[in-house]
Amino acid sequence: MQQANLLDTPLTYLKGVGPKRADVLLKELELATFEDLLYYYPFRYIDRSKFYRINEINDLSINIQIKGFIKNGKEIGQGRGKRYTAQLVDETGTIELVWFKGIKWIKDKYSPKKEYLIYGKPSQYNRKLNITHPEISEIEQESSTSSNLQAVYHSSEKLAALGLTTKGIQKIIQNLFAQVANTIEENLSSDLIHRYKLVSRKQALVAIHFPEDTNTQKKAEIRLKYEELFFIQLRLIVEKIIRTYKTPGYFFEKVGRFFNTFFNDNLPFELTGAQKKVIKEIRQDFGSKHHMNRLLQGDVGSGKTLVALMSMLIAADNNYQSSLMAPTEILAQQHLKSIQKFLKGIDIRVELLTGSTSTANRRKILEDLKTGEIHILIGTHALIEDRVVFNNLGFVVIDEQHRFGVQQRAKLWRKNKYPPHILVMTATPIPRTMAMTLYGDLDYSVIDELPPGRKPVQTYHFFDSKRIALFGFMKKQIAKGRQVYIVYPLINESETLDLKDLNDGYNSITRAFPIPNYQVSIVHGQMKAADKEYEMNRFKNGETQIMVSTTVIEVGVDVPNASVMVIENAERFGLSQLHQLRGRVGRGADQSYCILMTSYKLSNEGKTRIETMVRTNDGFEIAEADLRLRGPGDLQGTQQSGILALKIADLIKDEKILKAARHDAISLLKDDPSLNKEGNTLIRNYLNKIQKTKANWGIIS
Ligand code: ADP
Ligand code: MG
Repeated sequence: MQQANLLDTPLTYLKGVGPKRADVLLKELELATFEDLLYYYPFRYIDRSKFYRINEINDLSINIQIKGFIKNGKEIGQGRGKRYTAQLVDETGTIELVWFKGIKWIKDKYSPKKEYLIYGKPSQYNRKLNITHPEISEIEQESSTSSNLQAVYHSSEKLAALGLTTKGIQKIIQNLFAQVANTIEENLSSDLIHRYKLVSRKQALVAIHFPEDTNTQKKAEIRLKYEELFFIQLRLIVEKIIRTYKTPGYFFEKVGRFFNTFFNDNLPFELTGAQKKVIKEIRQDFGSKHHMNRLLQGDVGSGKTLVALMSMLIAADNNYQSSLMAPTEILAQQHLKSIQKFLKGIDIRVELLTGSTSTANRRKILEDLKTGEIHILIGTHALIEDRVVFNNLGFVVIDEQHRFGVQQRAKLWRKNKYPPHILVMTATPIPRTMAMTLYGDLDYSVIDELPPGRKPVQTYHFFDSKRIALFGFMKKQIAKGRQVYIVYPLINESETLDLKDLNDGYNSITRAFPIPNYQVSIVHGQMKAADKEYEMNRFKNGETQIMVSTTVIEVGVDVPNASVMVIENAERFGLSQLHQLRGRVGRGADQSYCILMTSYKLSNEGKTRIETMVRTNDGFEIAEADLRLRGPGDLQGTQQSGILALKIADLIKDEKILKAARHDAISLLKDDPSLNKEGNTLIRNYLNKIQKTKANWGIIS
């Protein structure tokens, strides 16, 4: 008890801190307590045994460390070109140091009589070597340890102004350890510690800040990464267990006539292994008497809708109604058509309810829904309205990235005595490591296999100068009876400008593809819903060969005869969006193509995105690439989840540790659900502690 209190002490009471420094530590680094500082890990280490002499520098790709004197500092240039330069001198030569920012801080900071330690990456400018914005520290006045490794901490100008440079931070961390070292308790079981030969928690925390050598530092790092990931997983899984057991679920005990008739008589193809696996997972949930809240991820075209349909048939077999909600009217209609086709000859009643359902129709549907004559109701947001009353709703499927507010979600959940089972389907793959962390408290299924016989879409990158060739290619495809999408980016800043790009594109296309030989559709977000639908349907029915549009066609639209996707200004799109767009073709039997048009001017990141698209069709690989390019914070839907603010682990690099940690957390809870066994006391205590302080975050449906 007392120990917990000590670590909760505000930093202002730490020797060497005081109110002023405490204030800045809080504002700049969000460090409030002793414990926060304990977990403020260094971001790298200086190996003090390795120095370069200036005349030895020959590799311009690595960071190096030099000892020398800083002389002749001066400001050069005006305005934006203003910079500060100085000479770094050692016994073998001179190299220039350059600053473009923070000049007033640097100016009088370094004495020409003192020797400094400089760290940075040299580069060449005007055939002279220089280092821009080097890290500079004073040479140790003989440190207390004999270690060659020295921790380096992120600091800031404001911190540095109060003496909290990396050195200063190290000093207060030293003070911290003097006070708390003996109160650092283990939080893992000896079982886990032995299994992975982990160092103790105390050893790890000491060694991460004050490593003796690289070996101890690495061991400390592994221990702390494992600990971090293990407790995140444990927390998520405990939350999931609590949610599952708190919320009762409808019991679908049998698979009956509807499912079996469909499976035996109507299913036109073999299910893929992945589809079978997911249906099994859903069936298990249905039969568990607990509430299902499941996320189903699967690449475009992987057959998620069919899985949803078969699950709805199980609901019907148990006298429960289902509903399938799509984000747009067009998609809802598409679902209705394909489901009706699948269910031909089976006496199951499926209806469609959207904003444009006629009043008479609506009245009839609402009546029959109430009496239970309708088994499956497909629709848009209109489904959540209060007047939509089910007889016995047991299962809800939500298609494609359909985000609800809390209010809407609650409405849906209230449509029966307890909440219906929920299946959310999404075609935006996220990397597995991310899903484990982000959705660790949900039931989670993946379809990671496409139906057989699909020809992978071939993807090419054309510069704008090859437009004539592009048109030629399009004409050949159209001559074969195929159809073509041409998509323009939406640039939010100016919708009128977007529209202009789109209209210009449309005009040039109609010139190159004139009537009567060719018919061209156009669809964009500012059109009336009815006009949009009219144009979409013309394209779907093959009356037009080319569809010029903005990204409104991104989600879910299914025109199997379309075999070419041209994306204009492809460099403006994010990877997941490019992948979604490409998923609009390759749905039929013919070879399909995706052509990425760009100008010659490409940023490095833009180039990587295009190259990734050309290289692979695998949505998960693309998601990983996206994660690497943008970092976890920017991935769709992850922004608000603090869970990704990891202190030491890295979701990309530490995938193995994450998997082990998740696996261990699951089997621990299986073996000892309330963590009552003696060996698990430390884990339970620590979990209680962090669970009280961290906020819960909502479920995604
Ligand atoms: P998603 O919703 O995952 O993008 P769909 O469910 O729309 O994919 O399926 C895409 C197409 O593949 C549909 O025409 C569907 O009928 C077909 N399909 C689904 N499962 C299979 C399968 N196992 N074998 C062959 N075709 C399948
Ligand atoms: Mg779909």
